Amino acid sequence: MSDVKEFDLLIAGGGLAGTSIACALDSVGISTAIIESVAMDASSQPSFDDRAIALSWGSRRIFEGIGIWDAITPTATPIHHIHISEKGRFGQAHLDAQEESVEALGYVALARDIGHALHQRMLNSQVHRFCPATLIDFKAADEKVTATIEAQGKTETVTAKLLIAADGKESGIRQALGIESHESAYNQAAIVSNLLPGKPHGNIAYERFTTEGPLALLPMTDNRFGVVLTVPQEQVEEYLALDDAAFIEQVQKRIGFRCGRFRQAGKRASYPLVLMRTEAITAQRVALVGNAAHALHPISGQGFNLGLRDIAALVDVITDAIRQDEDPGSKAVLQKYAEWRKQDVRSITLATDGLARIFSNPLVGVGAGRSAGLVATDLLPGLRHRIAKHAMGVLGKQPRLGRGLPL
Ligand SMILES: Cc1cc2nc3c(=O)[nH]c(=O)nc-3n(C[C@H](O)[C@H](O)[C@H](O)COP(=O)(O)OP(=O)(O)OC[C@H]3O[C@@H](n4cnc5c(N)ncnc54)[C@H](O)[C@@H]3O)c2cc1C
Repeated sequence: MSDVKEFDLLIAGGGLAGTSIACALDSVGISTAIIESVAMDASSQPSFDDRAIALSWGSRRIFEGIGIWDAITPTATPIHHIHISEKGRFGQAHLDAQEESVEALGYVALARDIGHALHQRMLNSQVHRFCPATLIDFKAADEKVTATIEAQGKTETVTAKLLIAADGKESGIRQALGIESHESAYNQAAIVSNLLPGKPHGNIAYERFTTEGPLALLPMTDNRFGVVLTVPQEQVEEYLALDDAAFIEQVQKRIGFRCGRFRQAGKRASYPLVLMRTEAITAQRVALVGNAAHALHPISGQGFNLGLRDIAALVDVITDAIRQDEDPGSKAVLQKYAEWRKQDVRSITLATDGLARIFSNPLVGVGAGRSAGLVATDLLPGLRHRIAKHAMGVLGKQPRLGRGLPL
């Protein structure tokens, strides 16, 4: 067993969540390793693709705490207003950065650009990288976790006090542990692209609910909008096969002409939409973060933001444990993490699911209720303020990184 490599922490998965927590842990002064199957600078890296990610104000603060925000900001577009409406109904709601006394409600950046910044930061870190390499087996015991890694046909063994599962929605670690997950399929898919509007986007993000499914338009660099168009699952191929003019027409039909006439559609990709909840986010010497712990409908642009808050909380409890000379993988540390995350994960999951379902319910009474809800949101500053805080990801007890503080 002489060639067994020993670390304090082992992160499985080097997507958006895995690389974020690796960068955060670099300053804690413990030995950390990360395992990722796909080269992080490869165009095929599945987590770093061309989807536009809306980062909340709270996520900006976490990235500031990690020391990575300066590298993300050149490609990030601030959101100054959020405009929420429903096609064919009178209600509208507006959220405004100035009213919340912040520079922006959030920012939009491509997952690829966020991934690039995180990868560059990792290259200059103490974090040991196994990449491309795959975690193929692990065993948790009282004192440590022992993991088997495969790279280029060879296997090696590493041990750690804590295994952090950042291996995505289909998490092999979660499945091997037998942690139950519950999926509700929406029978919808998201078609993602980008478009050039006829007018300046004015740093406004649009959430538009229609009977065909919701549409999100996110302001981006070069006056483009990132588009997330929700369509029935059985029509995905049809939407992907449309020529650009016909695709633009579909978006235009849903949003109208408030952004002018769209032109120049970018590449299109589709993602199935499911909500995935897990029964637990910890097990013996294992903590789940990001999509391994929960996956959401992108309607409210909250999935990665929620994952970053997992990371900020986990890093907080690990840092405290290390400073007090405690075992970072102990039951007590993991319990603190699980308790801390319960409320946030529950309320965001419920809110996102509720939004996805209520706005796709064609019943007359439900539609009238939705309009009334949007009007009430617009008219009642208290309610509007609370919804804005939700979208900004700053409700509840904030860990040090969530307050923009270093560890
Ligand atoms: C259309 C769409 C739009 C979205 N928009 C937003 C938004 O606006 N705002 C927002 O906050 N969120 C958004 N999200 C959600 C966000 O994209 C996800 O929350 C985020 O990508 C999850 O990252 P992750 O690292 O947890 O998982 P993943 O991206 O799935 O990464 C997992 C990584 O683990 C690696 N891996 C898996 N198994 C192993 C193994 N055994 N060994 C080694 N490596 C392994 C994989 O190669 C991969 O790189 C959106 C999602 C979609 C689909």
